[in-house]
Amino acid sequence: MSEERNQRHKKAMERRKALVDEKVAQATEERGILIVLTGNGKGKSSSGFGSVVRCLGHGYKAGIVQFIKGTWDCGERNFIEQRCPEVPYHVMGSGFTWETQDRDRDIAAAEQAWEKAEELLQDDSLHLVLLDELTYVLKYGWISQERIFSALQNRPAEMSVIVTGRAASAALRDMADTVAEVGDEKHAFRAGIKARRGIDW
Ligand code: ATP
Ligand code: MG
Repeated sequence: MSEERNQRHKKAMERRKALVDEKVAQATEERGILIVLTGNGKGKSSSGFGSVVRCLGHGYKAGIVQFIKGTWDCGERNFIEQRCPEVPYHVMGSGFTWETQDRDRDIAAAEQAWEKAEELLQDDSLHLVLLDELTYVLKYGWISQERIFSALQNRPAEMSVIVTGRAASAALRDMADTVAEVGDEKHAFRAGIKARRGIDW
C-alpha cells in the first residue's frame, strides 16, 4: 500500500522534474530585467531592499533612489548609509504629499530625485537599481511618463531595475519583465497596532 503510494509519488515527481527541466532549458536569454512590485499589501519595498542585499552579497553594485519617503528615520537607509557607504542612495526630500500639500515643492523634489535616477540608470557598473515608490511619481504626473520610460528602456542591458509602489499603471506593467501584485489580505495597522520600528520602517 505504502509502496504503491511511494511509486505514484516518484512518478509524479519525475513528470514534474521533466517539465521544470524543459522550462529551464528554454530560458536561454541573459539580460537585466525590469521588476514591478505593486499592490496594496505589505512587502514591496522590503522585497526591493532584500534584492539589493542579495545583489551586494554577490559582490555586485546597486543603487537606490527612494521617492516619496521623507528624510525621517528609516532602518534600511540607516543601514545602507552607515554600513555600505559605497552604495549610491538618494532620498526625495519632500515627504508625503498629503503632509506637505505643496505641489510645486513635490515637483521640484521629484525632479531632483529623477535626475539622480537617470544618472544611476546610465551607470553600467550597477547590477541593480531600486526605484522605491516610483509609481507615485507617475501617478501624480510629477515627471512625464515618456521621460521615465525612456530612461528605463535605454538602461545598460545587464542592469536590472526594481520599481515599487501601489497602483502601477498598465503601461508600466506592460514594459516590465516581472510583475508581482502584493495582496492586502490583512494588515496589523487596521487592527489598531502601531507601525513598528524595524518592521514597518
Ligand atoms: P514594506 O516597506 O513594509 O515592504 P510596502 O513597501 O509594501 O511595505 P508601502 O505601500 O510602501 O508598503 O507602505 C509603507 C508603509 O506602510 C510600511 O510601514 C507598511 O507596513 C505600511 N503598510 C503597507 N501596507 C499597508 C496596509 N495595507 N495597511 C496599512 N499600512 C500598510
Ligand atoms: Mg513601499
